[in-house]
Amino acid sequence: MSLLAVENLVVRHGLLQAVRGVSFSIERGQTLALVGANGAGKTTLLRAIAGAHQPTAGRVLWDGADITGVPSHKRVGMGVALVPEGRKLFVQMTVEENLLLGKTAGRPGDWSVERVLDTFPNLKPRRHAKTGHLSGGEQQATAIGRALMSNPELLLLDEVSLGLSPLVVDRVYASLQGLISSGTTIILVEQDLNRALSVSDKVICMLEGRVALEGPSKGISRDEVTKAYFGLHRKSAASVPA
Ligand code: ATP
Repeated sequence: MSLLAVENLVVRHGLLQAVRGVSFSIERGQTLALVGANGAGKTTLLRAIAGAHQPTAGRVLWDGADITGVPSHKRVGMGVALVPEGRKLFVQMTVEENLLLGKTAGRPGDWSVERVLDTFPNLKPRRHAKTGHLSGGEQQATAIGRALMSNPELLLLDEVSLGLSPLVVDRVYASLQGLISSGTTIILVEQDLNRALSVSDKVICMLEGRVALEGPSKGISRDEVTKAYFGLHRKSAASVPA
């Protein structure tokens, strides 16, 4: 049984349908990259999976159970953790305090402040610094660490490389690689197609709220994804089964 499945999900912002009948599933231990142009609906879809935005139609299934109406704090308790775009840290609080917040709504498990600091060694000397004083890379590591503190089964990462230098992005992804190897299930929104394809098992390209292309990352070329990105791809002719 899939860890997560979404079925014909429709999510609106007022009159605007940002997600228009999206269906896909992800198995335990898989990494799914969600790509697509600005405004394609990626953030809205992630927020609907996290329970932060209620869909108007369709279902979210967690281990086969319908959790469409379950609020976000309860989903954290079930093992779904979102690292939102823009990090959303408490800037007057220290790294350690922000990390411990992740524990409050979470589940029992192995993640601790020490393990997060081992995973993101750049945070070690910043443990007692206020997050408002950190660099972008340190803030991103804190945001991911806070999500990990809830001991998630599914980690939802929204554009973790946004605003970071290429060197810092490399560091963040090196740490993510460790999480992927340890079997954490991840859905990540990533603008960098090469990185998205290299880090993931499966890729979904969204276009104007719909899935334009879906398939195994190893079997899809950058060119195919780029075409889907710009709406030049004929889904029925060239999509690759997951
Ligand atoms: P980006 O890469 O720019 O974040 P995205 O693929 O994540 O894009 P969304 O942020 O989900 O796309 O936006 C999908 C659509 O919904 C866009 O047309 C956007 O303008 C609209 N939208 C997003 N958030 C809101 C909001 N809070 N209120 C109204 N419309 C919104």
